[in-house]
Amino acid sequence: MFSKHASFLLSASILALTLGASAIPSSIVESNQVSFSLLPNNDNGLKEFDFDASRLVRFFSDTDNGKGVVDRILEAPVWVTEREKLDAKSAGRGYIDITDLYPDFGHKFGPTGAQHVYHPPNSSAVSKILPLLSSEVQRTNSEIFTTFHTRYYNSDTGHASSRWLYERALNYTDEYDTTALRAAVRIELVLQQHAFKQESVIIRLTPRNSSSADAVTIIGAHCDSINDENPFFRSPGADDDGSGTITVLEAFRGILRSGYIPTSPLEFHFYAGEEGGLLGSLDISDGYKKAGKNVRGMMEFDMTAWIAAGRQEEIGIVMNQADPALSEYTKLLIEKHLDIPWVETKYPGRAGSDYMSWTIAGYQSAHVLEGAWEGVNFRNHHQATDTIDVSPEFSFDHVLRFTKLAVAFAVELSDY
Ligand SMILES: [Zn+2]
Repeated sequence: MFSKHASFLLSASILALTLGASAIPSSIVESNQVSFSLLPNNDNGLKEFDFDASRLVRFFSDTDNGKGVVDRILEAPVWVTEREKLDAKSAGRGYIDITDLYPDFGHKFGPTGAQHVYHPPNSSAVSKILPLLSSEVQRTNSEIFTTFHTRYYNSDTGHASSRWLYERALNYTDEYDTTALRAAVRIELVLQQHAFKQESVIIRLTPRNSSSADAVTIIGAHCDSINDENPFFRSPGADDDGSGTITVLEAFRGILRSGYIPTSPLEFHFYAGEEGGLLGSLDISDGYKKAGKNVRGMMEFDMTAWIAAGRQEEIGIVMNQADPALSEYTKLLIEKHLDIPWVETKYPGRAGSDYMSWTIAGYQSAHVLEGAWEGVNFRNHHQATDTIDVSPEFSFDHVLRFTKLAVAFAVELSDY
């Protein structure tokens, strides 16, 4: 598996370099005994992309702390090429990419800075919003979002997909905001640029009477996708993480439509470049840290659609590198607002996602997943088969339950 991918990417690299001087052939290219076609995706990314560019990364690893407890650490920074980064990803080795931050960034996970205390959920607003959520809207959004050839963060289609997401949110704002809402809340949509093509999308609902010191509540997902075989190949990313994206987007639509006025700032984040080593979320969380922002809690949704055959439907709560108090609070939200159970789960040594960027920045974050780790959709993720119709195991009902959790989290934490 590893060597196959390694040689494949090497070929792609040679091809990319060769093509710099000439026009892209449209058919099959043979190189190093690997044949592949350049898909007609109208994407200039492949011919522009430098697989030999240097990147500074820190790999994750788990070590026994000597007391029988396994701790996740970030290894010392190492320079690798883009190709080596992709190879490591194909081989299942997780990392953060800190090239565009600073050399000693992320020397450890946590400890978290502010320690917010979470009271039992009691907002009366949640139950009014939940009936406004629509699986049909989510299906439509998912169908469109997965038509982008890939949402790879260095690709033109990845860039276009974030623009689509931004437009969608903007349309919701136009459709649902009212004079009363505008009078009470500043609604801000941001296309956050990074040192690569794709942009992150940030939506902020800021009460007009709030101060910059007020604690912010964040729900987020990553909007990029990747094909592990070659990043410029087809990657619909319906589950990873199109599902989390439509979860957060529909939570925003429902909250907006309800006319809910938060008491403290509420934000919806869609991160670019998660698959490149948490790029977008690291950039953003580091910016919040530098600005001294106070974050009450961040919840991330990365893969929310799959109910593996033979397993019961449940909400996986990822316990490693997440805040224990916020993870406990997540259980209370599920028990109060959902009709399926939670299950504690863990990422094995080398997996990670954007909530870790918030942990690294010293904030309290939680992460929910489509089930226990053993039931996750690894049969299709990072492949061309990550579509909504690959199997009945892909469930929009399951996505809707996560969307209810997203609304519950967003509203309960921003209602005081
Ligand atoms: Zn993901």
